[in-house]
Amino acid sequence: MKQFIVGPVEMFPSTKEVLTKGYTYFRTSEFGDMVKSCLNKVSEFLGNSVENSLIYLAASGTGAMDAVVDNCMNKEDKALVINGGSFGHRFCELLEWHNVPYESIDLKWNEVVTPEDLAPFNNKGFTTLFVNIDETQTGKLYDIKLLSDFCQKNNMFLVVDAISSFLADEYDMEKYRIDATIISSQKGLCLSPGMSLVSFSKRMIDKIYSNSLPKSYYFNFRDYFKNIERGQTPFTPAVSIMYELKDMLRLIEQAGGKDEWIKIVANKAKYFREKSIEAGLSIPSYPKSNTLTSVYLEDVDAGEVVKLLREKYQLCVNPCGGDLAKRMFRVSHIGNTTIADIDDLLEKILLSIDEVKNNQLQGVK
Ligand SMILES: *Cc1c(COP(=O)(O)O)cnc(C)c1O
Repeated sequence: MKQFIVGPVEMFPSTKEVLTKGYTYFRTSEFGDMVKSCLNKVSEFLGNSVENSLIYLAASGTGAMDAVVDNCMNKEDKALVINGGSFGHRFCELLEWHNVPYESIDLKWNEVVTPEDLAPFNNKGFTTLFVNIDETQTGKLYDIKLLSDFCQKNNMFLVVDAISSFLADEYDMEKYRIDATIISSQKGLCLSPGMSLVSFSKRMIDKIYSNSLPKSYYFNFRDYFKNIERGQTPFTPAVSIMYELKDMLRLIEQAGGKDEWIKIVANKAKYFREKSIEAGLSIPSYPKSNTLTSVYLEDVDAGEVVKLLREKYQLCVNPCGGDLAKRMFRVSHIGNTTIADIDDLLEKILLSIDEVKNNQLQGVK
């Protein structure tokens, strides 16, 4: 089964092998030093030079989103959420859950946020903006500069879920004055699921310390900051994934560094999109992350196409959730896939569409 899903993605062979080699006890200075060197590299990729500002959690991405709301926000805050899909909606649910007042800018599946959308929220006392910079439900990439400028103007904190954008699109925390960035292991980092990382600006770290304690005992960030100075965590970390991360960072360096890595992903995205359009497929026109491409089907059930690709051709692509389930599916460009794999996938996509169309015409379910 070849994976073209957004995560967990097709891993690289050497990263998979890491687990067979065994590892040291994590409460040692060797492990701590390895963690520190890995996290320093990831911080560099994120464009954050604040020392000890990156912590890592044994949780999937949503665990980190939850913990960020819990640790960084309080009832006196007023949050604004860019809600353009299921991941934007998740921030709304988390703020609600933690009793943090918020409003949302609700966008249709094919809309990105514009200056006109933001204008009514100027000078209204909002303290923090939440955005999933790539809304993974559809692959929309929001304009980070627009959002960053809006936050500057309104003296707001900027919290970015870059889980599906990291290492696929350009990103720079200091350039765009981002106060918190959430990433996780199973997307662009191409590691096993189960680890998420959060990087903070100096002023967000200060806010966390001045905030009341979070509801969560396990995800009390103050403990994580204290421990990370020695490359440690309050509790048992995802040890095996840290070893995978070390290997992955080696692969990225080998490929020429972060920018070259992003180019590889961008090239796969560009190739898939061009070939799809040549083949007559419909690709949404909104600004897109390099991580994935949604394919829009006018008169064929997209869910059936996804099923056929998996069952007949052993090719795994993402269905689209909610109202879009019948209209769109998603193809990821992150992970260990090649241009040849894309050619093969595209051929099978076209065959599957034809087959589903024929079945529909003949009334076969
Ligand atoms: C994958 C993803 C998440 C995290 O989902 P989990 O299932 O908790 O790993 C969060 N936000 C975005 C934008 C994502 O793509």
